[in-house]
Amino acid sequence: MSEHYPSDRFFEKFTAPAAPELCRRLEDGRIECLACGHRCKIAEGHSGICRVRRVVSGTLLRPSGYVAGLACDPIEKKPFYHAYPGRDALTFGMLGCNFHCPFCQNWETSQALREAEVSAGLIAISPEEMVQAALDSGARAIISSYNEPLITADWAVEIFRLARLRGLACGFVSNGHASPEALSYLRPHADLFKVDLKSFREETYRQLGGKLANVLDSIRRAKELGFWVEAVTLIVPGLNDDPGELRAMAQFLKGVDRDLPWHVTAFHPDYRMTDSERTPLRKLFEAYEIGKEEGLRFVYPGNLGLAADDRENTYCPECGELLLRRRGFQILENRMAGSACPRCRGQIPGRWEEEPPRSSSGWGWPRRVNAGRRIIAEL
Ligand code: SF4
Repeated sequence: MSEHYPSDRFFEKFTAPAAPELCRRLEDGRIECLACGHRCKIAEGHSGICRVRRVVSGTLLRPSGYVAGLACDPIEKKPFYHAYPGRDALTFGMLGCNFHCPFCQNWETSQALREAEVSAGLIAISPEEMVQAALDSGARAIISSYNEPLITADWAVEIFRLARLRGLACGFVSNGHASPEALSYLRPHADLFKVDLKSFREETYRQLGGKLANVLDSIRRAKELGFWVEAVTLIVPGLNDDPGELRAMAQFLKGVDRDLPWHVTAFHPDYRMTDSERTPLRKLFEAYEIGKEEGLRFVYPGNLGLAADDRENTYCPECGELLLRRRGFQILENRMAGSACPRCRGQIPGRWEEEPPRSSSGWGWPRRVNAGRRIIAEL
């Protein structure tokens, strides 16, 4: 393997100029990248914090034409619980991240450019091949996930333009450290935005590599722009599980929109936190109760296997009718009447289909997708 992974040769081949909406030339010759909240000011020959956007010969380049992960799996796994339940999403990721969270559950790709021992498998693929793979797989959506998609937003938009023409929904699974420019750039091409709220403490975000204010602003802004937004807090023992902090997160989300679903999910030891304990069940249920007490109408504990019982289900907030019965990523029963409760006819917020599958067809395991070609020579 070369001194760093992937090599400069790889980056020469799998890059394209950044979208003009996502960069700005400064008077001193540097280029300001607008793809995420870091707003890196990058000099010739250098890259930004994410290490994947770099200035070469006076042009800001961004990744293009490859994926570091590609699978078709339930949209509930993203997680989106109020968007096309029971349907699959073709999900792709690339390399790199604008954060460096020690508990990252996708660190083999997100931290590949910071960790010498990592060498994720890469696939060369075009937007046309990706969209065709989604259609061939029977997916309802294409989602950019695994690593941080904001840092490759222009590549995602290349794919989303084609995907929307073919009737697919498009979305991001993001840490939410966005710039206003990036969200405005994305919105015409994407409808779904899953965002992390990792903490309510500025100090914690500083340790992870970002700013709390940017994330809060992105959540508000994404709602204003009309994305369908769901929030996730991975509850990491000792990091963000203080009841007061959880309550502050719930209050903030309620202030944005009481119908914004909040997923409180279980951490498992990974990356630089392999000695830490898993999130205890009682802690997830405590977070669930806090969310409910603060007035959020849809709160879901997740990553629990079969332990979450009826808390995983969706109920009508008006009449209490069971709407969606879940087990893990599986829909056991979909009783929705289009976008409405079948009993009181109240509208349920989300993105729904007139004739959805009434249950998931499989157990929710990811299906490998055969598309593109493995990249070897360029590494
Ligand atoms: S995507 Fe974010 S971290 Fe990467 S260069 Fe642009 S502003 Fe910097």
